[in-house]
Amino acid sequence: MSKKSDQVVKVLEKIKPRWPLPSPVEELNLLEHGMLAVLLRHIDQKKAVDAIGRLRKGYPDWNEMRVAQVQEVAAQMLGLGRRAARDDVAHYLVAARDLREFLQEVYQKTHGLELEFLREDLTASSKLVQQMPHTGLAAGGFLLWLAGNRQLPVHAAMVRVLDRLGLVSRAGLAKKARDVVGPLVPDGDDLRFVQIVGEIADRWCDARKPTCWDCPLREECPFGKKVAQDHKVQMERQEAQRKRDETKRLAFEKKEAEKRRKEQERLAKKAAIETAKQEKARARQAGIDAKKRAIEEAKQKRLAEIAKKKALAEKAKVEAAKKAALKAKAAAKKAKKKR
Ligand code: SF4
Repeated sequence: MSKKSDQVVKVLEKIKPRWPLPSPVEELNLLEHGMLAVLLRHIDQKKAVDAIGRLRKGYPDWNEMRVAQVQEVAAQMLGLGRRAARDDVAHYLVAARDLREFLQEVYQKTHGLELEFLREDLTASSKLVQQMPHTGLAAGGFLLWLAGNRQLPVHAAMVRVLDRLGLVSRAGLAKKARDVVGPLVPDGDDLRFVQIVGEIADRWCDARKPTCWDCPLREECPFGKKVAQDHKVQMERQEAQRKRDETKRLAFEKKEAEKRRKEQERLAKKAAIETAKQEKARARQAGIDAKKRAIEEAKQKRLAEIAKKKALAEKAKVEAAKKAALKAKAAAKKAKKKR
């Protein structure tokens, strides 16, 4: 076994697919095998095959299912007819939604709902499958494998992953790709190889932005090592920048807080001066008012004394007049007696 074949074995052991691939079913066509692959993300093969059988009976064609409500699709998958209580189909809702999205993706990419044409031109088919992110390359590779009579399908994404892993060289590979890739695959492991490489492409090895730092193969992948290293440097730079920004932000906040404190201090001082000023003015006014009141009271007292004196003088006058009258009366009386 060559060094590269050993490496492929290690890759196959290291990567655990998220979902199983279906076992091919005689009576299902390619579109239905795609549906089966999607359903296996949620339920086992037997339940998935049963569900597809019920859906076939429940809808006159797949387009009608594509536009149906998710709850209704779930009910049909369970054989509960078109209408069923949400609680009764709750455990199939996610699978039903996923299945409907698969049909939607096929419809958008092919303007139809059948995939038998994949068998006619495998090169064009592999291009199409790579444009179906919901289906993914693991399931898409399975469809290509079926379409090509269970021959190893080699698509551009697979070549990209293998090239980055240092297993093949992309340059000038186009036509003899299967001849170069085929010998690397352990005997009888074609489908697992297609699934695992599809899984790597789906999850980490994007054409433009591979996330090598998360990829389980980053240690042994020459391309990944460099990307992971660049990513580390970039992360360190970002962290350093974040710290600088944080320091700047803290300094700014401190400056602003100091500014606010000084402003509050100035306003408090101003308010204290204003209050003291008002207090002083009030005290001055109170002194003036008290003085005025004292002057007024003294004046009133003087006037009262004058009035009292006047009244006493008047009284004395009246008394004197009375006395003079009595005296005159007595003198008149005396004169009368003499006569
Ligand atoms: S380490 Fe990066 S380049 Fe290598 S296989 Fe993983 S994602 Fe692809």
